[in-house]
Amino acid sequence: MADNNPKGDYYVGVDMGGTKILAGVFNSSLECVGRFKMSTKAERGPAAVIERIARAVHDAVDECDLDLKSVKAIGAGSPGTVDTENGRVIFAGNLGWKDVSLKKELEKHLQRPVFIQNDANLCTLGVHEVELDGEPRSMVGIFIGTGIGGGLVLDGKLYPGFTRTAGEVGHMVLMVNGPKCTCGSRGCWEALASRSALFRQVQEAVEEGQKTVLTEMLGGELRDMRSGDLRKAIKQGDKLASRVVEEAARCTGVAVGNLINILNPEVIVLGGGLMDALENEMMPAIVETAREHAMPGSDKGVKILASKLGDDAGITGGAVLARRESK
Ligand SMILES: [Zn+2]
Repeated sequence: MADNNPKGDYYVGVDMGGTKILAGVFNSSLECVGRFKMSTKAERGPAAVIERIARAVHDAVDECDLDLKSVKAIGAGSPGTVDTENGRVIFAGNLGWKDVSLKKELEKHLQRPVFIQNDANLCTLGVHEVELDGEPRSMVGIFIGTGIGGGLVLDGKLYPGFTRTAGEVGHMVLMVNGPKCTCGSRGCWEALASRSALFRQVQEAVEEGQKTVLTEMLGGELRDMRSGDLRKAIKQGDKLASRVVEEAARCTGVAVGNLINILNPEVIVLGGGLMDALENEMMPAIVETAREHAMPGSDKGVKILASKLGDDAGITGGAVLARRESK
């Protein structure tokens, strides 16, 4: 793998989530040449997690028969609010982190320059720069998994917002007094159409006595349900799975329509684990509903796409950030 790339011309992108850490090594053309994945173990606390990130970076680099000296910089994404200037994670609820100096600590472990960013912003950067060749002047990235994260590209650049928290599209309220959200509010898009919301809806329906093949596949408690299980159930003609996924797609379509009305972006890209698993089942309804809710004329020529980067969006964005900041 260590090819004809001159020494010092590699970048590492890191995507840290509540359950897993993914590290990817990229060459100077931003092609991924190797990756390494490990569990986060957030319950062990920030110091232990940072050590694990450093180990993931080491192992990814080692997988490529390289050493850290040939890595010019590292770009890492964290969930929650991130102070990119000072390299600190201000608050990350699903990690239980409050004011963690991620950049400084990682640099201590790795002895290479580290740059950090919010994870959904990083995914947006990856999609914009690598998948779309940096072309759209305006773009909204939407990533649907456990939660719903987003990022905005305006005038060709990632838009940080006044206090650097812009792009939290998942907390747009779509149902006043709707189900409770992790942010403390009610009826957010995330509380209605994220993977966790869908699983909760299936579980509640089963508790109410509705029949589904999912209980045959996973047992009555629906343990370890994955997005792919919903797809399999739909393929078998399961009414409950079809209804829940259809409603989530409609709900997402309304949110996309709102985003078109507010920002009139050139492109809206949808990614994340749930979209990867259910693209074919959800995209037609998302696009149709978005167009129904867009103001006449505002969606003309606006592209609504599914990302092809899948799980690699975050590490790709990390490499983009590392290359850009270390120039
Ligand atoms: Zn919320």
